[in-house]
Amino acid sequence: QPAYGGDSPQALSLNGKTKDEPLGRFRVAKRELGQIFNNLKETVQELESVYNAADEKIIQKEHKDGVKALQESIKTILDTFRRDNMKCVFFGRTSNGKSTTVNAMLHEKILPQGMGHTTCCFLQVQGCDEEQGYLQLDDNPKRIDLDMLGKMGHALSSENSDLPAMGQDSLLRVFYPKGKGATTNRLLQNDVVILDSPGVDLSPEFDAWIDKHCLDADVFVLVCNAEATLTQAEKNFFLRVAKKLSKPNVFILNNRWDASAAEMDNVENVKKQHMTRFQQFLVNELEVCTEREVAKRIFFVSSREILDSRLKERGLVNKAYQMDGYQERALEFQDFERHFEQCISRSAIHTKFQEHNRRALEIIDKMKQNIESVHGLAQDEKRQLEHILEESTRIFNECRMNFAQFEKAYREQVIFLIKRIKEISTLLKDY
Ligand code: GDP
Repeated sequence: QPAYGGDSPQALSLNGKTKDEPLGRFRVAKRELGQIFNNLKETVQELESVYNAADEKIIQKEHKDGVKALQESIKTILDTFRRDNMKCVFFGRTSNGKSTTVNAMLHEKILPQGMGHTTCCFLQVQGCDEEQGYLQLDDNPKRIDLDMLGKMGHALSSENSDLPAMGQDSLLRVFYPKGKGATTNRLLQNDVVILDSPGVDLSPEFDAWIDKHCLDADVFVLVCNAEATLTQAEKNFFLRVAKKLSKPNVFILNNRWDASAAEMDNVENVKKQHMTRFQQFLVNELEVCTEREVAKRIFFVSSREILDSRLKERGLVNKAYQMDGYQERALEFQDFERHFEQCISRSAIHTKFQEHNRRALEIIDKMKQNIESVHGLAQDEKRQLEHILEESTRIFNECRMNFAQFEKAYREQVIFLIKRIKEISTLLKDY
């Protein structure tokens, strides 16, 4: 079992405060599981060299092939394992504030946002160790300048002949330096990958979207416009997700809640209405959480206010947009982030690492079977040798007995001959 969040020295060692941080638990679990797989790799290597040096009668081709297959499995797991991350997908209608929410969570204006700006493809933000960020389109390894992000992610980019035409389900990866900005990229530093999607109102191929981008998602965030109601397109998308993934983790953000500042009289009623509707959606229609859990899944926030205040804190803007009741919304946003981090880390550890854990046990089991088969053959060989030794000893003893009998007969014969020679000598003497 990966020992994450336990009291082991390793669990405490990341900045000394990892133990209680949900995102840190994922990193500790990843590091420990990585050590287990490296140990496993070394053990199988050692086994290979022992097999290569051993007698071919005992170590047969199937044993050596078995070891090779184990090495292949470990390599494949290590390759996927290194890419494992905590993935979150943002959905919602165009202009509900998805990009603004992602930027607020990253404390940085990374994704293009704004009135009339429509994201035309999937934009995936993830951390990189390089000092300079870059873009990559789908699986093309060619690095594109980060400055191109605004143009490439924009809905109109396909009309621009200089840029590659991109389908709605294309993926533009944004590699952003983990170290850039002060505390800004805590999410990126901890292997959180954020996927922003084109608006669900763009009548997409939901199934293709889900198959291509969402099957490995740990958390889904539906960004709604608190001033409007949930549309059928938004509902349909999540109904498909719930069909394809077993019990997905869904958060609902009622964004633009700053608008409620203008409606002080009615605000509690509006909030109650939204809450009832979303509760019904998550608990009864999607069946992804219970009534008790739902309070930790629905939040009323203003991503624009949060992003502005975080940018102002870093001295990147002079004035932050804030409406009455900002403090309450800011606390609610932080509350969302706390639950989001706990949920994404728990989900990623359970779904991704539990599977690796299962594979590690499977590999150990196969290695044990392989060694036991060799041990069985070695036992047979030993038994055969013992039998040959027993036979040889029996034959030797038999020969020794026969020799003793022969020696006795020979001795008697010699004594008889000597006696006869003596008698003849006496006779001759008498002559
Ligand atoms: P997306 O299409 O869902 O990614 O939406 P964007 O993040 O690009 O936001 C569209 C517009 O809504 C931008 O002009 C944002 O500044 C604005 N916006 C986003 N969140 C809020 C919010 O909480 N309050 C207000 N008043 N405006 C917001």
